[in-house]
Amino acid sequence: MNFAYWLERAALTRGDLLAVASGEAQTASYEDLARRSAAMARGLRETYRLSPGDRVAIAAKNHPAYLEALFAIWWAGLVAVPVNAKLHPTEVAWIVEHSQSQAMFCSSDLAPALSGLDLGLRALVCFGDAEHERLTALEPAPLTARSGQDVAWLFYTSGTTGRPKGAMLTHSNLVAMSLAHLVDVDPTAPGDALIHCAPLSHGSGLLCLPHVCQMGVNVVPESGGFDVSEMLALLRRWKRASFFAAPTMVRRLAEAPEEIEAASIRSIVWGGAPMHMADTLKALDRFGPRLAQLYGQGESPMTITALSTREAEDREHPRWQERMMSAGTVRSVVEVIVAAAQEKPLPAGELGEVLVRGETVMAGYWRDAEASATALQGGWLHTGDLGSFDQEGYLTLMDRSKDLIISGGSNIYPREVEEVLMSHPGVREVSVIGRPDPEWGEIVVAYVAGEATPEELDSVCLERMGRFKRPKDYVFVPSLPKSNYGKVLKTTLREQDAKRSLEHDANGSQGAHSAADAPEMSR
Ligand code: AMP
Repeated sequence: MNFAYWLERAALTRGDLLAVASGEAQTASYEDLARRSAAMARGLRETYRLSPGDRVAIAAKNHPAYLEALFAIWWAGLVAVPVNAKLHPTEVAWIVEHSQSQAMFCSSDLAPALSGLDLGLRALVCFGDAEHERLTALEPAPLTARSGQDVAWLFYTSGTTGRPKGAMLTHSNLVAMSLAHLVDVDPTAPGDALIHCAPLSHGSGLLCLPHVCQMGVNVVPESGGFDVSEMLALLRRWKRASFFAAPTMVRRLAEAPEEIEAASIRSIVWGGAPMHMADTLKALDRFGPRLAQLYGQGESPMTITALSTREAEDREHPRWQERMMSAGTVRSVVEVIVAAAQEKPLPAGELGEVLVRGETVMAGYWRDAEASATALQGGWLHTGDLGSFDQEGYLTLMDRSKDLIISGGSNIYPREVEEVLMSHPGVREVSVIGRPDPEWGEIVVAYVAGEATPEELDSVCLERMGRFKRPKDYVFVPSLPKSNYGKVLKTTLREQDAKRSLEHDANGSQGAHSAADAPEMSR
């Protein structure tokens, strides 16, 4: 089934309902959205002579036309390739070439850089330009039939190491993801709002699918992203709103001094990176039990485990805090095990790699048979995440296996050290990495944003964990390097740290407990 059918059905049955809003203003009903998407679908098929299965890239900041473009692509039976808008033009070019995209939509801010590249496209359509207007005014095309196995979305992973890989997400994968979201995480009713403050090329774009299925309102902030005061205004304007946010966004909202009418928020769905307990508690105090957590990855989009708002409500439970620290329980459409080797499940309490099998797991990586075989070995998706289940089926994630620190032969999990450091009230953000060391193999280094001294942090560590886990160096920075999706980039941090260590060696200084400038970076 082609899930763009959900849009056709919405237009037919409740075409009057609002589908898209730009900030506080209404822009398109379901009837408008279906008509404009179907019109553009005709343009893609007839003007650009694209055939079902051909790829069409989108490189744009969040914009109301983004949703129309996505549905036009699917309506025409094509494959969408949403690209992170903050990538460098040469990185965008790499994805366009690798995906063999034939056409591309872009926002006007990116058009000058992209039109200067030789991308071999049949068309580069900029939102709002004359060609875009022409396409939306064509005679609507009929919906193209697709099977569940056909690819709908090539999801290029963040690529923190090496080139990004394109996870092939099929129509069946995304139908399963959407229905499981409505069942496990966030029952949605017609007219409920979803505010797209996170990039549509990633989680927020994926979550627009269950919302279109249920005829919700897709609200695209005018800033095209996350801005605290705009979010507060949108939360006042749109009732029963939900939004997908990275942990850093949740923290910034929770710390906003302004009044927030929390009761009208339906849910705050967060994921993509761990949230430290101190931040979770702050957010729960501020918003009440409206927090739901998703653990997923591009290869099993938004769907591995979840911690629903019901769990947040159950404060009386003796292990409530432990549960809030976990990534929740296995989703309805997948099986999840923790394994050490050969896909053999480990008992509860033991740490291993998280493996996933089921309806949302990708068909493989686009044009990368070797990486597909490795990732899907033994019929399970190997996530590269380390975790353990408790006796009641709650999964606690530790770190990516490549982020594990081995110092003097002992395993040190950065997340555990970060949790302890975050308990100091002056610490705003922290990331712990391993620095190569001739004596210890690696030493623990903490990058800290906030107001604290190394001595204070040392004493917090000594109170709460084994001495050997205590950072040997603290580097104070204004902020941590993060991706466009709000993930702290540990690989970038390690690179910066290596550069810093070299500079310090050259200057003959030791570098301990020092301040450094960490430029905001995004990939
Ligand atoms: P991406 O494919 O870019 O969505 O990144 C997926 C990765 O983000 C996962 O493999 C995890 O390492 C991390 N991640 C996603 N959700 C969570 C979560 N709720 N808690 C901790 N880490 C997460």
